[in-house]
Amino acid sequence: MESVFGDREVWFLTGSQELYGDEALQQVAKQSQTIAAALDSNSAVPVRIVWKPVLTSSDAIRRRCLEANSSDSCIGVVAWMHTFSPAKMWIAGLSALDVPLLHLHTQANRSLPWAELDMDFMNLNQAAHGDREFGYIQSRLGVPRTTVAGHVDDPEVAARIGSWCRAAAGRAEIRSLRVARFGDNMRDVAVTEGDKVEAQRRFGVSVNTYGVNDLVQVVDAAADTEVDALVAEYDDVYDLVPELRKDGERRESLRYAARIEAGLRRFLTDGGFGAFTTNFEDLGGLRQLPGLAVQRLMADGYGFGGEGDWKTSVLLRTMKTMAAGLPGGTSFMEDYTYHFGPGEPKILGAHMLEVCPSIAAGTPSGEIHPLSIGNREDPVRLVFDAAPGPAVVVGIADVGDRFRLVANEIDVVEPDEPLPRLPVARAVWKPRPSLSTSAEAWLTAGGPHHTVLSGAVGVAELTAFAEMVRTELLVIDETTTTRQFAKEIRWNQAYHRLADGL
Ligand code: MN
Repeated sequence: MESVFGDREVWFLTGSQELYGDEALQQVAKQSQTIAAALDSNSAVPVRIVWKPVLTSSDAIRRRCLEANSSDSCIGVVAWMHTFSPAKMWIAGLSALDVPLLHLHTQANRSLPWAELDMDFMNLNQAAHGDREFGYIQSRLGVPRTTVAGHVDDPEVAARIGSWCRAAAGRAEIRSLRVARFGDNMRDVAVTEGDKVEAQRRFGVSVNTYGVNDLVQVVDAAADTEVDALVAEYDDVYDLVPELRKDGERRESLRYAARIEAGLRRFLTDGGFGAFTTNFEDLGGLRQLPGLAVQRLMADGYGFGGEGDWKTSVLLRTMKTMAAGLPGGTSFMEDYTYHFGPGEPKILGAHMLEVCPSIAAGTPSGEIHPLSIGNREDPVRLVFDAAPGPAVVVGIADVGDRFRLVANEIDVVEPDEPLPRLPVARAVWKPRPSLSTSAEAWLTAGGPHHTVLSGAVGVAELTAFAEMVRTELLVIDETTTTRQFAKEIRWNQAYHRLADGL
């Protein structure tokens, strides 16, 4: 199966032991190759699954784990104890393992051959207890992992392994991500702050600030030919309002927006950055707040956070990576305003300008309107409604001694009525289980107002990711009650403080 993650791969490790003799081990090898190949060719599994020779000794296991750690292409390992692999053999390897682990609890044979069942079959198909031995040692060592049980022919099993692979790709991305912040955070805002040292220790991401005028220099230096090419692309791709079209009276504003895009792209490419932030309070020599440029860079996969919000920018880039190749978009978002009725209560999410067109329902319109904040020229932006469908909004907060992810399953819906006077892109959604329970739970968790909205990936990928990076994840879904949720937060407070040690 063609991987959407380039040369990234997941290794398939099989555990056994020498006790069974060569002939049995050859069968173990053959059967595990078949299972690995089935996963590799399954379209629900987006990463190459690479089979590795069967492991039968402590030293071989330790070496394979160290190899996985040091490989630039290996983003995680799937382990299956085909037979019985005495788990003391796994202590050194699992203790050293530093890539995500999925424990696949499966069996080569889907059905028991009832009439022919003999001890040879029993000895070759004993993952039912071999994997229990492996589960024990993982729990004993406190190894973070995802456990999936079932036969690989089951689409649900393949789908869950696929979600885990996407989470592993996100984890590989955040480990090496570099974020450029243009300016600091918006003054006096609390939730966009956070511990950048802890973020690098926990996730690997490196977050650094650059003077906005360093960016202005690159913007001003962009060649006219680059600007011409971008503006021609805008003409093609968007419905521009007449004043921005060729010979329109505000065409120059569009050209300046293109100049920002050219410069920003150059700055990010040259520095190897995958995510960035801006702050309308710190625009230096920029003549417009970057709107269109930010929207288009997000559509190309860059992470972004407004008002210096580097944590949301990191989360956006990470989730866009997880979502590679899937239908549905992923965008920076902000809970903006409510519709309490008539009809079902809904949230209208938007931002000043910067919503990613990957979530657009139709062709975005390119527009120019005044912006009361930022004290600059009117910025160009893309305006659209988000496509309806199930989605998730996710926020990340620094709660003092750790990071907390909060996710809410939602249903993006069409606006009740057209919004002809709203000059920004927007999404309207019904949060599950209801607006009141969702909002009460979110506020109790201290979740942020900035989020990532994704119709491509959801709670399955986030759960696996949170486990990989050992970070708290609170989920608000159809089953949430505020009473239970408040208790979960309290239990988590105690758990995470204990789990992180002194
Ligand atoms: Mn904001």
